[in-house]
Amino acid sequence: MCRNMEEAVNEVKCQGLRQALQQSEDRLRHVQAIAQLGSWYLDVRQNRLTWSDETYKIFGVPPGEPLCYEDFLARIPPEDRARVDAAWQAALKGAPYDIEHRIEVDGQIKWVHEKADLVFDAAGALQGGVGTVQDITERKRAEEALLLFASVFEKSGEAAIVTDRDKRIIAANPAFVAMTGYSPAELIGQNPRILASQQTPRETYRQMWETLEREGYWQGELWNRRKNGEIYPQWAAISSIRNPDGKVSHYVGSFNDISERKAAEERIRYLAHHDALTGLANRHSFESRLEQALLTAQREQIRIAVLFIDLDRFKTINDTLGHPVGDRLLQEVARRLQACVRASDIVARLGGDEFVVVLSHIVEISDAAAVADKILKSLANAYEIDGRQLYSAASIGIGVFPTDGIDGVSLMKSADTALYHAKERGRNNFQFFTSAMNAAAAERLTLERELRAAVQNRQFELHYQPQVVAASGRLCGVEALVRWRHPELGLVPPDKFIPIAEETGLIEAIGAWVLEEACRQLGEWRRAGIGDLQMAVNLSARQLRAADLVATVRELIARHGLGEGDLELEITESVAMAEPSAAIDRLHALRALGVRLAIDDFGTGYSSLAYLKRLPIQTLKLDRTFVRDIETDPNDAAISAASLALAKSLGLQVVAEGVENAAQRDFLASRGCDVLQGYLFGKPAPAGEWTARWSGKPTAG
Ligand code: C2E
Ligand code: MG
Ligand code: MG
Repeated sequence: MCRNMEEAVNEVKCQGLRQALQQSEDRLRHVQAIAQLGSWYLDVRQNRLTWSDETYKIFGVPPGEPLCYEDFLARIPPEDRARVDAAWQAALKGAPYDIEHRIEVDGQIKWVHEKADLVFDAAGALQGGVGTVQDITERKRAEEALLLFASVFEKSGEAAIVTDRDKRIIAANPAFVAMTGYSPAELIGQNPRILASQQTPRETYRQMWETLEREGYWQGELWNRRKNGEIYPQWAAISSIRNPDGKVSHYVGSFNDISERKAAEERIRYLAHHDALTGLANRHSFESRLEQALLTAQREQIRIAVLFIDLDRFKTINDTLGHPVGDRLLQEVARRLQACVRASDIVARLGGDEFVVVLSHIVEISDAAAVADKILKSLANAYEIDGRQLYSAASIGIGVFPTDGIDGVSLMKSADTALYHAKERGRNNFQFFTSAMNAAAAERLTLERELRAAVQNRQFELHYQPQVVAASGRLCGVEALVRWRHPELGLVPPDKFIPIAEETGLIEAIGAWVLEEACRQLGEWRRAGIGDLQMAVNLSARQLRAADLVATVRELIARHGLGEGDLELEITESVAMAEPSAAIDRLHALRALGVRLAIDDFGTGYSSLAYLKRLPIQTLKLDRTFVRDIETDPNDAAISAASLALAKSLGLQVVAEGVENAAQRDFLASRGCDVLQGYLFGKPAPAGEWTARWSGKPTAG
């Protein structure tokens, strides 16, 4: 009984203990379920694995299934398996076991975190390991997503930053770093304001913050400054990020550098205002800038000067060497012009070889002269183009505000008139506008009108100037020189009207008449038995360009019975240079007709004898400017002597013009000059006077 009592008491005690144990196990299970934390025990001696209910749940295995270590390994995907196994083997040797790895549950991947300790028996021998396993799949997913977002942020080509609510930068991606030139360290903690340039209007920022506050999003254009100082436009998109409680926690901004697009737009705007070839202001922008400069000048009562610049001989260079060379020359001229003036002055190309410079503030008129002089010198320097040395020069006309005009149009007109005078004065010089120039311009217009009438009314006559053989003084030819018998002005010399005739094209009619009349006169002298004369006739550029020139000359020669060498045509160097291939062909055709060809005014142009030698010419006419000072100016003497020597070596005959005295005659004769022409032997006079003198009869009239 007593024994039974004892048993009964023990039974009750056991029951109580079992209940307590059960309760404790239930609680543990509950706690494990809440924490998603399972536990396990691996008996290494028997390779038996015991899992808690939560562990079965985590591994998706029906509870109670008997397991061993390999069953655990089998549930780890191959890519993690070796790593976990190695960690466990290391743990068995004493290393801590704390590992995150994947497991496969019904074809799905889960992440677990495991920790374990080793268990030893009382004798200190290893029994196994006890550990925990926690399902961390959700945390891993969140981490992965975060990593992904971070890498998107990092790798994005679009520059992006994140700021905290106080607008302090907390992250900046590499694209942002590249765009701004600031390192992350320099950016973090800063207000993005450090990137602002003064170029963005304050109003834009105000609107930006207002819109962000109201709508949580703003986009627009901002001008920022890179670390290197460069200012650039960017397209910005900024969002505010709010907490669940509605308070702004961050701002995120993404930015696109739009300088390239802007540059393209800018280029289009630039082209509209600039000359594409030289980059100078074009006519359109020149006019508005001149207006602007005039307004300032008016307000501040200062002078400004307009310099109208025209390149001498540009057309020749363009025609002979081709447009690419011409273009390069113009570019170089533009560069030199800009180098001659201040940045505040205007340099423009109005087209062709016409340039304008506006000196936006001069104190004295002489300031304009100084700049004009500097420009002339600069433009006259050699141009190195395609390995060739070229020379050009310019003529400049200057108009000054307010004396020569108070608005753009009148000022330009004054400068243009002055330019015309500069060209007339022999080029490579500058002229100021004077009212006398206006009078001259008006006179020119009248002359032009009257010249047209003169062509119709045949108001021209020819005077002839004798040419003699230098060695013997024997009369050998005459040069026909045209005059205009003006009803009121009397006899007008060719210098006064030939240039106008050239420009207006009237020269073709006048020249044709001159040729006809000169040939007729020579025929008449022949029939009268007067000497063995050669007739020299001046040919203008336009005449040489006319397609019917050769046919006309052929017909005249035939009609008036002229022979080989009876007719000599004089052309100037620039005419010969103008259209070389066409000109050369035409000259050859004339030569084939037995016509002699002469280069007139030799020494005043720019061409070399070597070049002229390519032309079928027989005669050089040494310009009278060299003959004039031949005895007094050693330079002129040297040029004349050298030209003579060169001409001789090329087999050309030399005629000296403007011989007025015996000393000149003797000098030229002694240097081997062939023919002389000048007042010393006779001034140009009408045919009748010569007929009378040569046939021994008294002069009629
Ligand atoms: P050019 O062909 O060189 O003619 C020579 C000029 O020098 C002539 O002037 C003549 O009068 C002048 N002269 C001759 N000897 C002397 C002298 O000893 N001293 C000085 N001081 N001058 C002298 P002109 O007649 O006034 O002719 C001027 C220019 O007009 C000519 O220069 C020629 O280029 C052009 N010209 C004349 N007639 C014609 C023509 O029928 N057609 C064309 N296209 N041009 C012509
Ligand atoms: Mg002549
Ligand atoms: Mg001459």
